[in-house]
Amino acid sequence: MSRWSSGSQSGLREANTAKIVDAVKRFGGLTQVELAEATSLSTATVSAIVKELSLSGLVETRPTSRSGRRAQLVTIARRAGVVAAVQIGSRSMRVRLTDVGQDVLADRGMPLPADHAEDTVLDRITLLLIDMLGMIAADPEDLIGVCIAVPAAVDPESGLIAYRGVMRRWEDQPVAAVVQQRLGCPVIVEKDASLAALAEATLGTARDVADSLFVHASYTTSAGIVLGSRLYRGHAGTAGEIGHLQVDPAGSVCTCGQRGCLETLVGAEAITAPLRTIHGQVTFKDVIARAASGDPGCARVVSDAATTLGRVVAGVCQTLGPEVVTVGGELVEAGPIFLLPFASALRDHAPQGRAPRRDPVPTSFGKDAVLVGATIHILQSTDPSQLLEDRS
Ligand SMILES: [Zn+2]
Repeated sequence: MSRWSSGSQSGLREANTAKIVDAVKRFGGLTQVELAEATSLSTATVSAIVKELSLSGLVETRPTSRSGRRAQLVTIARRAGVVAAVQIGSRSMRVRLTDVGQDVLADRGMPLPADHAEDTVLDRITLLLIDMLGMIAADPEDLIGVCIAVPAAVDPESGLIAYRGVMRRWEDQPVAAVVQQRLGCPVIVEKDASLAALAEATLGTARDVADSLFVHASYTTSAGIVLGSRLYRGHAGTAGEIGHLQVDPAGSVCTCGQRGCLETLVGAEAITAPLRTIHGQVTFKDVIARAASGDPGCARVVSDAATTLGRVVAGVCQTLGPEVVTVGGELVEAGPIFLLPFASALRDHAPQGRAPRRDPVPTSFGKDAVLVGATIHILQSTDPSQLLEDRS
């Protein structure tokens, strides 16, 4: 039994307490009035329970203002633990530590070589995490959990990368089990696009709808699916792997072994290759920056990729019927050069009445979408009663 649910409280009181803790965890910090709205409890009940939770040390309150009026912001107490979100990309990685109220305590990134290997990257993550915990005067024992985002589908049964070839030097080890053994806390490994989809569905552009799609247009191409307000992974974790839909049966061979996948037309290699004759050895990020600043060749390649991606996403929308489509990843940084042809292709290729209600929008979290989702995933996977029980 946890401290806040033990003693002489009634079952109703316990249920109301759990509702309030869940709402604070879900939204990262709410005023008492917002908590009353989110839980459908009276402000008097919320106030009494928050006072009790505050005395037990599970939540903290601090003054804030809403619409010019003074209010008390309720967050989960910092001493309840630290959450680590790790994003592994094709060419970089980032580690962010937050408290359980999702306030950022530390955030660091470092470049990674192309075709990086699981063992050396996991060594770097472990060292960086321990260093960052030291910076905020915390220990590995303070970690509630670590969520590692990878640019590939993960089989939830085996914990391995679902498709062979797409992260060639990562596919023989269950990453979560390896990191869990090193750090001694729960570790979750999840596809980056799924985590970004979770972030949007919980706190972002799709928070008011049950069904949404997040399109991750980065070095690789993928989507995260939320159906009925839950992340949908499908059999073997491969739902939303739009990058490996065949678009051109005569196209070039993809990392997954198929021919003509969407990713061979809109991924980083497809974006940079046609520009080498004009610009030499340009990087993916160079092309996006040049497209945004009006270079005609770079803009052409990015807008053609946006049209191809929009056409495929229109098909996905026909199948799943999401209300909201959000896009993130490096390609979105090209701005209207990407977004306008993407939205136009999505509209043009969806049959009447089958397009999402709203035009696609860029992610609410910019470059942080995946990390925000990773933090939310740990908080939603943690039993609230465990937060203080292990530490009191
Ligand atoms: Zn493929």
